[in-house]
Amino acid sequence: MNISHFLDQYASHPNYKSPVGSKLNSKSWQTEAPLRMLLNNLDSEVAEDPNNLIVYGGSGQAARNRESLEKIIEILLDLEEDESLLIQSGKPVGKVRSHDQAPRVLIANSNLVPEWASWEHFEKLKSDGLMMYGQMTAGSWIYIGTQGILQGTYETFAACANKHFGGSLRGKLLVSGGLGGMGGAQPLAATMTGATFLGADIDSSRIEKRLKTKYIDKMTESYIEARDWVLDAKKNNKNISVGLVSDAGDMLDNLLEDGIIPEVLTDQTSAHDPIFGYVPNGMTLNQAQELRNSDQKKYKEISLKSMARHVSLMLKMQERGAITFDYGNNLREFAKIGGEKNAFSFNGFVPDYIRPLFCEGKGPFRWAALSGDPEDIYKTDKALINAFPDNKDMIKWLKQAKEKIHFQGLPCRICWLGMGEREKAGIIFNDLVKSGEVSAPLVIGRDHLDCGSVASPNRETEGMIDGSDAVSDWPLLNLMSNTAGGATWVSFHHGGGVGMGYSQHAGMVVLVDGTDRAKNCIKRVLHNDPAMGVFRHSDAGYEIANKFSKKFKLDI
Ligand code: NAD
Repeated sequence: MNISHFLDQYASHPNYKSPVGSKLNSKSWQTEAPLRMLLNNLDSEVAEDPNNLIVYGGSGQAARNRESLEKIIEILLDLEEDESLLIQSGKPVGKVRSHDQAPRVLIANSNLVPEWASWEHFEKLKSDGLMMYGQMTAGSWIYIGTQGILQGTYETFAACANKHFGGSLRGKLLVSGGLGGMGGAQPLAATMTGATFLGADIDSSRIEKRLKTKYIDKMTESYIEARDWVLDAKKNNKNISVGLVSDAGDMLDNLLEDGIIPEVLTDQTSAHDPIFGYVPNGMTLNQAQELRNSDQKKYKEISLKSMARHVSLMLKMQERGAITFDYGNNLREFAKIGGEKNAFSFNGFVPDYIRPLFCEGKGPFRWAALSGDPEDIYKTDKALINAFPDNKDMIKWLKQAKEKIHFQGLPCRICWLGMGEREKAGIIFNDLVKSGEVSAPLVIGRDHLDCGSVASPNRETEGMIDGSDAVSDWPLLNLMSNTAGGATWVSFHHGGGVGMGYSQHAGMVVLVDGTDRAKNCIKRVLHNDPAMGVFRHSDAGYEIANKFSKKFKLDI
């Protein structure tokens, strides 16, 4: 394939688009798949800021710079089935010899030796052109737009409803901050669980994007208008969602002053990055950008103080009855550094709501149709509904998803599946591709936020019962298992979700192209990957994981 022709057609900066259809541009589907998913990550429907190669999560990038991106594309167009491409923090650095069941791409992003694992050191390397921030699925080419987190957010809110409100959030007010790439899933997930939702974002363009993709119902710059809309909706048990253009802390302050305490309170501003993510209280976006450019030390100081204020307002609401939890952005940690000594008085969402699912090897399983044809996804939905007739929650989810989710870029689906289920789904999908019922290959991947792929003591591994929160052997074993099993591309990152120094995590994507080769890889990878979650939680002493370990004969 002629590279300049391909770049003109699919990667003319900043207009990126994945090729679609069943015709190959690369030498095989094993290399076409990462190529399409990389370009899909940067599609303007999917990425938050393609101009800067930023996909989501503050500054999470798909490639280090334009030159690296174009070089990756050039190599993938020509890569053989016995070669594997090495990516170091978004830059292609070499090819190694491998074989047709080995990963085609091996990715390491943002990793630093622990003593140097700080934002300050990282930023220095980044400004010297030596690194990029990969977040989780940005640098590992399996971000699928806000849909990717939607079901996880829905599961969290539903678990919260079950634990505290008899199973429904109808007539309840759920308040949060941050309506960006991930946080933008909150309004739709909240209304899907019946709640009235109010969320603040300082950047109006972020809320506009959610309006366009139908993740949010209404938007205003007026606190009074937002307040009246949600109070009226709550009184009438209406599950509407409202985005308010405001600093998140200011919105909470106003609500407290008016004596309005939400039933559920959380936050998804990009607090994991105090300089390039969180916008300090009292600043416009332009002022924030100017200060970032002129004095990062001062910016960080103000940002940390704002987070301390933000959390102290959350604590006031918690005292007055709001069910309050941290939603995976490390806000508590930075608020504590900024002076709020009680910042950890509320828990993170994983120990409160998600860990029991992790014990079953459950997590955010996702797949994308490389054809670009939504019908292919609908066929996979139908196949799953037929294959798991007893899984009522999954069926309800897939039906709602088909009705409510607006695809961004390549059509994709997310569906939390566990041990045993993922392998079964993978084999069914491979048969659909083999028979031609699905018009081109699929890829199956997942978020790094999964049962056995992360060490993140303020998030996925917070409060492990054996105290093993900070042990990062587990994500490394996950990476090695998926490499040994033959995933099509694998990745190991540092700092995703919660920022530099606070997490290490692994990703994988496996190609489903209808071949026996793919079937063998699927049987290994989609067994091993959820098994890591069962091993991890069983080893820590969780009873549910022990049961699953016995059921699937995983104990040794
Ligand atoms: P993003 O950068 O796309 O969006 C963050 C949003 O926060 C932006 O729209 C920004 O304008 C807004 N914001 C920043 N400061 C603000 C303030 N003071 N008041 C109001 N709005 C403010 O990031 P994202 O992808 O949406 O991720 C959000 C956070 O959630 C990140 O910290 C990310 O690491 C974390 N995260 C959570 C999960 C999860 O499952 N809970 C998963 C992945 C990431």
